[in-house]
Amino acid sequence: MEHIVLVGAGLASTYAAAQLRSSGYNGRITMLSEETEQPYDHVPLSKDFLYGGEGYHELYLRDAEFYRQHDIDLKLDTPVTGLDAEAKVLHLGTGATMDYSSALLATGATPRRLTVPGADELTGVQYLRTLNDATALRSQLYDSERVAVIGAGLLGCEVAASAAMLGKDVTLICRSSLPLRSALGEEMATVYRDLHVEQGVSILTNTEATALHGNGRVEQVVLDNGMTVEAGTVLIAVGATPRTALAEHAGLEVNNGIVTDASLATSVPDVFAAGDVASVWNPTIGRHERREHFNTARTQGKAAARSMLGEAVSYDVIPFFFSDQYDVWMEYTGTAGGDCEVVVHGDVPSHRFVAFWLRDGRLQAAMNMGLKGVPRAARPLIRSRETVTDQMLRRIVEQAQ
Ligand SMILES: Cc1cc2nc3c(=O)[nH]c(=O)nc-3n(C[C@H](O)[C@H](O)[C@H](O)COP(=O)(O)OP(=O)(O)OC[C@H]3O[C@@H](n4cnc5c(N)ncnc54)[C@H](O)[C@@H]3O)c2cc1C
Repeated sequence: MEHIVLVGAGLASTYAAAQLRSSGYNGRITMLSEETEQPYDHVPLSKDFLYGGEGYHELYLRDAEFYRQHDIDLKLDTPVTGLDAEAKVLHLGTGATMDYSSALLATGATPRRLTVPGADELTGVQYLRTLNDATALRSQLYDSERVAVIGAGLLGCEVAASAAMLGKDVTLICRSSLPLRSALGEEMATVYRDLHVEQGVSILTNTEATALHGNGRVEQVVLDNGMTVEAGTVLIAVGATPRTALAEHAGLEVNNGIVTDASLATSVPDVFAAGDVASVWNPTIGRHERREHFNTARTQGKAAARSMLGEAVSYDVIPFFFSDQYDVWMEYTGTAGGDCEVVVHGDVPSHRFVAFWLRDGRLQAAMNMGLKGVPRAARPLIRSRETVTDQMLRRIVEQAQ
């Protein structure tokens, strides 16, 4: 009997399950989650969940009725501890085993640990990935006036913004010369630096934490430049690593993620991977890519479902992510490099503009801040690789709302 098992019940699996049913699959579907909460959206956990008190039910990706209606067997509190790819059997933390005809590994990622003295011992030191992490961080934030954020990528910047919105005295500790520099490049990272500074966040650049000090609870972050930062809550946001242990032990090919081809198939038959854990072959750019974005997990989950049903799938979705900080939201479409020219149209000080990244006159990426409709207009131009004129870019901005 056909039995599709989705390992990890996060974003990619939830979209995969829905796609399986909407594609007409009427065999068995089981979703296995090590967590005790119904599948939820991580996106608000660094934003309104921290400063606005969003209720749990609003985080759920689907209500409980969805799983019943679509005959999806969602098993919570059921970690998968082993995969026997030859026998097509999963070993569960409960001691039971489960056969599958196809399996999707969508086990996500986990925060990279900071290995400095004090990081593992002191209360008030938090990582952020799960709803439990966010709940703990939220109560720590309410308890302290001074907050330090170590790491100035998207997650760190969003938490810094949320803490500042709660009226906290926030210090953002940044290893490079600008927050978000590696994600957005110098020009747009400067826009974000100015935004945080305007909101009263202190940004310490070109420096790293070497120790956390405190007496039970964290009190200080010690930096490699000799400075110390006073803080009663410290968020460590220094990146994430894909959760590949299950795949590695099962002998699947793993290289910064579970390696798949463009159809999301792994190196062993009938096992697929999607989302933060997957390193997927991109036929357009001719290399494997692993991304930790909502839209990647969503579209890969759906693509993997179609692939599991035997459809010919070649995943080539143009990367897309978004971020909300303070009352400023942005969307970023495409992939740019440091060798690109950046052309900006619109009004940067009021945060209503579009930045375009061009290489040899061809559009590589676009970032819209405060204006809607840009990703839809930019995607065809990125995909076509045609040479774009300034007029074409202006038209995109004029048509954006
Ligand atoms: C705080 C936060 C804010 C974010 N904000 C944004 C944003 O603004 N914009 C954006 O584009 N992206 C954002 N993201 C990224 C986005 O949420 C992720 O890319 C997406 O959730 C990845 O989905 P996934 O299905 O791969 O992993 P997850 O949604 O993490 O699901 C993986 C699930 O697998 C479970 N699991 C792991 N191993 C096992 C096992 N052995 N057995 C059973 N279960 C297992 C995990 O517990 C987890 O529930 C954010 C992420 C976080 C953490």
